[in-house]
Amino acid sequence: MAGTYARSTEVLVIGGGPGGYMAAIRAGQLGRKVLLVEKRELGGECLNRGCIPSKALIHASLLYQAVRTEGPEVGVTASDPKFELATAMRWKEEVVAKERQGVTTLLKSAGVTVLPGTARFTGARSADLTAPDGGHERIDFAAAVIATGASHTTLPGFETDGERVVNAWEVLSMKSLPRSMLVLGGGVSGCELGEFLARVGVEVTIVELLPQLLPGMESDLSRELTGTLERLGVHVRVGTKALALRRDPERLAMTVEGPNGREELSAERLFVTVGKRPESRDLGLEEAGVVTDPKTGFITVDAQLRTSQAHIFAVGDVARPPMLAHKSYREGIVAAEAIAGLPTRFDFQAMPSVVFTVPELATVGLTKAEAETRGYRAREARFPYAALGRAHASHATQGWVKVVGDDATGLLLGVHAAGEDVGDFIAEAAHAVEMGSTVRDLAATIHPHPTFSEALEEAALLWLGEPMHVARRRTDAGGR
Ligand SMILES: Cc1cc2nc3c(=O)[nH]c(=O)nc-3n(C[C@H](O)[C@H](O)[C@H](O)COP(=O)(O)OP(=O)(O)OC[C@H]3O[C@@H](n4cnc5c(N)ncnc54)[C@H](O)[C@@H]3O)c2cc1C
Repeated sequence: MAGTYARSTEVLVIGGGPGGYMAAIRAGQLGRKVLLVEKRELGGECLNRGCIPSKALIHASLLYQAVRTEGPEVGVTASDPKFELATAMRWKEEVVAKERQGVTTLLKSAGVTVLPGTARFTGARSADLTAPDGGHERIDFAAAVIATGASHTTLPGFETDGERVVNAWEVLSMKSLPRSMLVLGGGVSGCELGEFLARVGVEVTIVELLPQLLPGMESDLSRELTGTLERLGVHVRVGTKALALRRDPERLAMTVEGPNGREELSAERLFVTVGKRPESRDLGLEEAGVVTDPKTGFITVDAQLRTSQAHIFAVGDVARPPMLAHKSYREGIVAAEAIAGLPTRFDFQAMPSVVFTVPELATVGLTKAEAETRGYRAREARFPYAALGRAHASHATQGWVKVVGDDATGLLLGVHAAGEDVGDFIAEAAHAVEMGSTVRDLAATIHPHPTFSEALEEAALLWLGEPMHVARRRTDAGGR
């Protein structure tokens, strides 16, 4: 026995982020006795250091930009608008605190006991809890859910120091804005936060090793974003490798090698965002008999999120990619339902993903290239926002919606979009893909006017060769 105290529970949940708190709430709703252990704050990365605080700051920066650039054109003027970081941070903290209180209340109403501290398995049915005061408690459990998330990785020589060389969590709580910032890594966080910084006046350079920003995303989407970033004044260096970092007293100097050869980039601060690693270390997984992938560190799970020990589950970022909060949510629910003996499984078919930049980018299902490699006769059609009344009325004509369908069957395979509000209406596309809809089903669905979601219907019509708000070309397919 690890200490003075001992408890037992039906379900032990380790980690109170989106995966863990959803698993705990669902297991509680299903009548299980649940104990959730969290070593930092309830809500995990997403609520405290990820999705919510980043979107709060991005929102503040968009308001600032709108007042300065778009406002005068539409009759809104303000004398000398300013972006006050301290106020924006305070507001962001208020949002986070409110949301965190919401999670606390939800867990309580589901009957979940929350314990602060760090949990570690000591066997297949027991764990040790180290409380914040250093005390220990033994917890015996019938089932467990591991939802410990992921941590940021760095590159040798580019280690973060929390002040001048920072990770995404630290960018979200900066005390002051630097004059210039190098961003090492052009993935989602690099682009979202890099654009945020540029919008509020920081000189930003994004360095990405691969040939495009947002590697892994459709090149059309990446191109759309790259154009906006460059118009905003961001220096985008793709196909560029960071070789070394020199930390001079006044400035940071980063040696890079890219299409222009070897050069030195300098800035006041560096934001390193090169990837994340599942938090599967120091959990006592060996003692519990839980297997991880030796290369990636992800905990190996099946379609019900069961690990190599059938009564221990792993969900969210620690289990497998994509590292997205909504994937964690769903996996948490599935794990809890599997524990309760319900017939359940996690279906990866339609996993939407959104990048909160300008334009907003959203994607679900297969791209044309992916569909072709799976043997579909894939064809795509792209409807421009510039042909949408609402886009003009909202001063947001940049963007498009692209529909990918199978020519042989008319099946809707994927939707990829850039522009205002796409992150919201991609959910409709996800539903359509999930339900096995045809492109005709999407085209036949009446969309309210004037909304950005009409672009989805119009892109489907265009795919069918029946465009209504753009001229029909001779080459458009017809009459499906
Ligand atoms: C800047 C940024 C922006 C993001 N924006 C988005 C977005 O817009 N949309 C989106 O879908 N995703 C976004 N993400 C990703 C999202 O935050 C994660 O995918 C999500 O939080 C994963 O949820 P999780 O429950 O698996 O893990 P986490 O949220 O990481 O939660 C894990 C929890 O486990 C706790 N823990 C770890 N080990 C132990 C232990 N031994 N004992 C007790 N507790 C432990 C941790 O303290 C943590 O609270 C963003 C991430 C970042 C960094």
